[in-house]
Order: sequence, then C-alpha cells, then structure tokens
Amino acid sequence: MSQNNTHRTFSCEFFPPSTEKGMSNLLQAKQGLEQAMSPAFFSVTFGAGGSNRDRTLETVKQLRETNNTDVAPHISCMGSSRRQIDDLLQGYIDMGVKRLVVLRGDMPQDGKAEGDFRYASELVAHIRETTGEHFHIEVAAYPEYHPESPTPADDFAHFANKVRAGANSAITQYFYNIEAWLRLVDQCEAAGLGIPVVPGIMPITNYANLVRFSDNCGADIPRWIRKNLEAWQDDRESLLAFGTEVVSRLCQQLLEQGAPGLHFYTLNQSAATLAIWDNLSS
Ligand code: FAD
Repeated sequence: MSQNNTHRTFSCEFFPPSTEKGMSNLLQAKQGLEQAMSPAFFSVTFGAGGSNRDRTLETVKQLRETNNTDVAPHISCMGSSRRQIDDLLQGYIDMGVKRLVVLRGDMPQDGKAEGDFRYASELVAHIRETTGEHFHIEVAAYPEYHPESPTPADDFAHFANKVRAGANSAITQYFYNIEAWLRLVDQCEAAGLGIPVVPGIMPITNYANLVRFSDNCGADIPRWIRKNLEAWQDDRESLLAFGTEVVSRLCQQLLEQGAPGLHFYTLNQSAATLAIWDNLSS
C-alpha cells in the first residue's frame, strides 16, 4: 500500500450467520481477509431490537476460537433492559473481549422495542460507569446525517454527546461523497473531539440491494454512480468491475486525505473487499 499505514486501523464487519453453512462460509471469508489484510479487528453486528443477541455472542465466540484477530461485538440498546445489557457485557468480559461497537440500534420490523436506554450516548455512559476503561468503545457517525436527525447541527451535537460520554473512536455509515467525511472530520476538530473517525466502506456488488440499503440508512448514491449501476444491473461482471474501481478510488482518496483507517462492510463475503484491498496495495 502506498501510504504510511503504521497507525491506521483496518477492520471488517460481519453479521451473525443463521445456519451452519453460513457460519462455515463466514469462517472461510474471514480466513481470506485475515491473510490478505491482517485487520486490527473483525466486528459482528447485533440484530435489530436485540433480535439476535445470542447469535452475536455465539459468532464472536466462534471467531475468537478460530483466529488471532481481535473481535468486536456490536451492542445496541434498542429493546434491551439494563439487566440484559449488563449480562451481555459480563459475558464479553469473561470471554476476554476488549472492544465494542456501541449503538442505539435499528427498530425491529414489528416496530416494538422497549428498553432502558434511549440513545447510544446513554449506553456508552452506562458502559463506562459499570466497566470503567475495560472496553475500547466505537460509536457510529453519519457523514450524510442520520435519517432521524432534524438538522445537521442536531446530528453533530448528538454525535458529540456520544464521544463525550466516553467513546474512543467512531466508524461512519458508508458514503460515496468524500466531501461529507472531510466536513465531519473538520467539525470534530473544531469541536475538539479528538477521536479518529474511520470511514465505513460499502463495496458495490449489487444494484438493487445498494439502493434499498441506501434508502433505509440515508446514504446518498451520486447520480453518476447510480446511472452506471442501473445500466449494468444485468451484467454482473461489468457492475463488479465498475464498483471495484469506484470504491478503490474512494479508499485511495480517503487514505491520501489522512483517514485513520477503513472499516469494510463485507456482508460476510470476502471477494469484493479483497479486490479493493488488492488495488490499494498495488
Ligand atoms: P444514536 O447515536 O443514539 O442516534 C440515533 C438518532 O437519535 C439520531 O438521529 C440522533 O441524532 C438522535 N439522538 C441522539 N441523541 C439524542 C438526544 N439526546 N435527543 C434527541 N435525539 C437524539 N444497527 C443495528 O441494529 N445493529 C448493528 O449491529 C449496527 N451496526 C452499525 C454499525 C455502524 C458502524 C453504523 C454506522 C451503524 C450501525 N447500525 C446497526 C445502525 C444504527 O443502529 C442505526 O443507524 C440507528 O438508527 C442509530 O444508531 P446510533 O447508535 O447511531 O444512535
């Protein structure tokens, strides 16, 4: 890789598989990523509304048994009681986990998610209060703003609250407009937040899925990207080649602009992330 990466944090995100076959595919993907990238950590998502709390724990356990790379569970407060959170934290402490991605979480499909914490900032504060400095805490950041935030200023103020509650670093929602990340980093600097804001990278492998995800999470797909993907939605090879080129260039520019690392949303597949990584390394 052309930049100095000594202090950069590269990581990959997985979701908990629901079948044995899914787990064996994941372990294979993990092995390829580990060999090529030596990531600082793998993270494992948490189901909406706490729906697959146990599957996250089980996946973390299996990944820790089969590799040397640190594993960071996501933990969200949506739909969880204080007791459930404390039990989960104790389970992770007992397993030797030292890093968490702490979130409010998405609403479950049935829209019902009562819990003892309303926002990620409250969960971060609770984790610090009950476990001190045991965990390195990552929180989510939104260069193109969280869809529920009434204004960009509200979005940033709430992000800053999470950091002041005790977060050590942030991972962003994915984006394809580099200016949005640069602006967020400038704002963090101006506010004296002093934490790394690692860009979340979504490889492009499927037009319909990307549009659906982006509509849900509020990430913008620039028109020139959307039009190309639309044109190639039935030509997988061309779509993958275009997606790899676009996302590799974004990663290259981010590193040139001083990004403190990259977090890849792998969706449990290694090929697209590895293709981008190869381009960055050559
Ligand atoms: P918060 O930081 O709590 O913010 C949620 C909304 O509330 C924002 O609009 C914010 O501006 C607003 N807000 C915050 N504090 C206040 C306040 N005091 N008063 C009024 N409004 C406030 N989802 C999952 O379900 N599982 C996962 O594993 C998962 N992993 C993720 C990983 C990353 C890196 C990212 C970027 C997102 C992830 N998500 C995951 C999605 C995330 O849970 C959703 O985006 C969720 O809607 C918000 O979570 P948050 O932690 O950012 O929430």
